[in-house]
Amino acid sequence: MNNNKQMTFSAPFSGALLTLAQIPDPVFASGAMGTGLAIDPLDDVLHAPFAGVVINIARTRHAINLRADNGSEWLLHVGIDSVELGGEGFEALVKEGQRVSEGLPLLRFDLDHVARHCRSLVSALILLNGDRFTLDPVQASGTVNVGEPLLNVAALARSDDSDSAHDPRAKQARGTIRVAHNGGLHARPAALVRQTARQFASHAELHFAGTSASTDSVTGLMGLGVAEQDEVEVVCLGHDSEVALQALLKALSTPSPDEKPHGIAAIAQTRAASSNEPGILTGVTASPGLASGPMFRLGTIELDEDTGGHRPDEQRQILSEALVQVRTEISASLNHDQDEQSAIFATHLAMLEDPALLDAAVDAIDQGKSAAHAWSQAVLAQCDHLQTLGNPLLAERANDLRDLRQRVLLSLLGEARCVEVPAWAIVVATELTPSDLLMLAECGIGGICMAEGGATSHVAILARGKGLPCLVAMGGDLLDAAQEQEVVLDADNGRLELAPDATRLQAIQALRSQRFEQRQREQQSAHLPALTQDGVAVEIAANVASRADTENAQLNGADGVGLLRTEFLFVDRSAAPTEDEQLAAYQSVLNAIAQKPVIIRTIDIGGDKQLHYLPLPAEANPVLGLRGIRLGQARPELLDQQLRALLRVTPLSRCRILLPMITEVSELIAVRRRIDELAQLAGIHERPELGVMVEVPSAALLAERLAEHADFLSIGTNDLSQYTLAMDRDHAGLAARVDAMHPALLKLIDMTCTAAASKGRWVGVCGALASDPLATAALIGLGVRELSVSPPQVGQIKAQVRELDTRQCQALAQHLLTLGSAAEVRTACNTFQTQVQSKRSA
Ligand code: PEP
Ligand code: MG
Repeated sequence: MNNNKQMTFSAPFSGALLTLAQIPDPVFASGAMGTGLAIDPLDDVLHAPFAGVVINIARTRHAINLRADNGSEWLLHVGIDSVELGGEGFEALVKEGQRVSEGLPLLRFDLDHVARHCRSLVSALILLNGDRFTLDPVQASGTVNVGEPLLNVAALARSDDSDSAHDPRAKQARGTIRVAHNGGLHARPAALVRQTARQFASHAELHFAGTSASTDSVTGLMGLGVAEQDEVEVVCLGHDSEVALQALLKALSTPSPDEKPHGIAAIAQTRAASSNEPGILTGVTASPGLASGPMFRLGTIELDEDTGGHRPDEQRQILSEALVQVRTEISASLNHDQDEQSAIFATHLAMLEDPALLDAAVDAIDQGKSAAHAWSQAVLAQCDHLQTLGNPLLAERANDLRDLRQRVLLSLLGEARCVEVPAWAIVVATELTPSDLLMLAECGIGGICMAEGGATSHVAILARGKGLPCLVAMGGDLLDAAQEQEVVLDADNGRLELAPDATRLQAIQALRSQRFEQRQREQQSAHLPALTQDGVAVEIAANVASRADTENAQLNGADGVGLLRTEFLFVDRSAAPTEDEQLAAYQSVLNAIAQKPVIIRTIDIGGDKQLHYLPLPAEANPVLGLRGIRLGQARPELLDQQLRALLRVTPLSRCRILLPMITEVSELIAVRRRIDELAQLAGIHERPELGVMVEVPSAALLAERLAEHADFLSIGTNDLSQYTLAMDRDHAGLAARVDAMHPALLKLIDMTCTAAASKGRWVGVCGALASDPLATAALIGLGVRELSVSPPQVGQIKAQVRELDTRQCQALAQHLLTLGSAAEVRTACNTFQTQVQSKRSA
């Protein structure tokens, strides 16, 4: 059945029909790219699932975009990671722009080749503009044959006569909630709200301060200007309005784990105080480092004046094709490790589908504007609005919209943003976009200075990830500075030196080479064991959250994995991972760091980390509630499944299980007993080592009893600081005071090490304190013998260990235990470090 509004989507191949959540790829499975379904194909030909027009064929021919006559746009994507085949094994049987009838062959592929060289043959069939259509499954699972009807796709009536309003079963549900997201409803939380709302049939809106926005519109939600702790009203209309409301209230009141202030990101948002020193401009450090090089100014894309009088239907078509192209490019650039970069661009993808933006652009087109001007005008109006809301984080997200303006304009104008940037250039701009930054990082620039922007912007996050020094909020004077002159960017101290003399430039060069050589030296011996001067071995392992992190840890010389946070497997998906999926993930981590031990922590969900598919009761103090091992007790089937998967990894002798948030011995004994039962049921004779995290004071105080039953203890200084100092670890205002160098924490660490030693157990530290070189001597002096650090720091911490003598470290530690504040401890550690360094150079 096909008419203007409705059509049937038929099976494009024969094979097993799967839901989106079953796709073995987090980006597709989470619905970030849109709703739809998947097929594990048995045929080697992809057929048209409906009559329509080919809008785009991927350069590598593994995916095709089709538009149906009812306006729905679909991505038909063969296999997972098939883009990496570079087109090998794929043949396109149609051309872009071609009209196709239902069932017409679109692509032929070599089934064997794709199956052998890709992660999976499972093919995603994704509705890209899902906010305008409803999908009604004809069948949901089983084996299907080509041409069998799978979905009825109907166009939604626009706002005022929406389906929800006419559905006789429709009920209204409303509720209010305080928004817990750090910085309020900015891009990523808004995208999360949209994604949550899309799981339900109900139409949902947020009301705040006399205005409202549909949950379909990321920019509309951002445009409400909701700050952290603001109260919003959620209104849902539809037959599932009650469940939709509960899910949305939860999404709004649960801060996302990736939105915590990041050390540097917590820097004040204020414009940097201007410098009185001549020839010096100051800014806010968004990414530390030191660089020198020629100044290079990067401008934005400007459009010529619009002559007007364009044909709206033609311009709409042009814009729609450009949007599909950009969407496909962004989707192809997302990787599967859910790192910062992918998260940022997945948000761009959601913004690109934003109905508020699209409507504004289409309205401008209908008034005779060209597609380029209409798109530019729609985006800039939204940017202006975000900037007037008085919320710095929302104002920074306007830059993500400017990125989309630029990308779509480049596609419309048929240009690529290729700029000839001199090597080591210090790039200057009003504000760079995330795509600009990735392009510049490829060119080998030295650093970045922006007149505007903030330290929590996506560009700042990416610059830190790439190790590029970056200053932001430098003011308009920056743009008046002469081009091509040699400058010094000292991002560590927030300074740009406009006229360094030859001596200064030489000094910078010397300092840079010194740092570079030191890093090289550290890296050269990073793969060797770390022994103190008096021959005591300290294991330097790495904290990881994925296979890719583990590969990085191995490259950086880690002696093992000291903490695998398994939450990465459970978040951003609609159902818990199966036992087999978990086994594959854990095994891939063991394989990535051959012959070395891997400590895998059981799931630490609850508190600040929540799962959509695991509804937990709302708690007044989630951080003091059902989290860590307590969740395992409340939901034993979840912990059992994880333990069963862990017992199946090989070799089991390399796998050590770590339990989070242990507060008393019975919790440990119960898990040890359960491991025995599960192993016996599975006929497994070997047992993995079992350790506990010491991250609440009661565990440190009970360390001796715990050590009787545990094989090792690992101190989580992040939570131990929070629970000892009674300061929220994510509280931006307290960030500087939640310092694990506090003498009270050192006393708990001392107590833990002494108790563990009396029972012959070893103690490690896996919290962030382990990565702080200033703390290495103190921790060794207290008796810690394993430090689990962030992968790039393995070489540095190993080098630090090699300079120390344990007896001197013990003397230092005893002195630190007598002090009264973290500041005093840091001063004493600095003095100690200076003495060690001067002895070395003497
Ligand atoms: C800690 O609390 O120090 C720790 C390592 O665990 P997480 O940071 O994952 O809570
Ligand atoms: Mg913790």
